[in-house]
Amino acid sequence: MPQYEIYAIRYAGPFTSSGAFLMWHKDWEKTEKRNYYIWCIKGAGETVIVDAGVAPELANKKYLSGYVNPAEILSRIEVKADEVRHVIITHIHWDHTSGVELFPKATFYIQDEEYRFWLKNPIARRPCFEYVSDKTSQDYLASLEGTDRLSLLKGDQTILSGIECLLSPGHTVALQAVAVNTAKGVAIIGSDCAHIFRNYREDWPSSLIVDLVGWMRTYDNLRAKASSLDLIFPGHDPLMSQNYPEVAQGITRLV
Ligand SMILES: [Zn+2]
Repeated sequence: MPQYEIYAIRYAGPFTSSGAFLMWHKDWEKTEKRNYYIWCIKGAGETVIVDAGVAPELANKKYLSGYVNPAEILSRIEVKADEVRHVIITHIHWDHTSGVELFPKATFYIQDEEYRFWLKNPIARRPCFEYVSDKTSQDYLASLEGTDRLSLLKGDQTILSGIECLLSPGHTVALQAVAVNTAKGVAIIGSDCAHIFRNYREDWPSSLIVDLVGWMRTYDNLRAKASSLDLIFPGHDPLMSQNYPEVAQGITRLV
């Protein structure tokens, strides 16, 4: 089976918030930092991007500190965003999805249930959901429906040999994590199944919970699938930029 490397691409941050945002309902008195990331899987002649980050227009609107266009950062490791063929969207929160237009030739892989919730379910128009979503990128995805640029997955599915999307609900109705065959075994890009490594180590969720029972089952699944706990990567932990070799500005090789 092919082996791949995984790169963390930091496109914004750091941001400071209450620790309770990263460790649900704990650490209210602490402040913690978080970064915003996408990931790049490279190997066997393939490049797969996980999440689309944020496009410049929305970054301006939200005053994202430390923001750099994800396409510009990717170019530092010779990845041309406008030529990328595969983009896995883990979930349809604005910080993971709103850069879809940066990948004009890509097929987007999204869980069908996630897509249908955000684009078709009136509950997603309620304030607490609109707060974490972005209409422009949802309209863009809707325009791709029925074409070969939108691949709606039903549960766990291998998209290329050694790269499998894993249905992982909890943070959203149908978030997907990505299991990747690497030189160290199976690693998992967990996205927001955890904001930080501590969530996995302490068996404790982060925040924006839609299904706490599902979240715990997701932890069981991801732990069973990964070759070790150290190979499950969270969505927003600054340690991804600090504890791994930096291969270019803003880019570290996780495995
Ligand atoms: Zn996120």
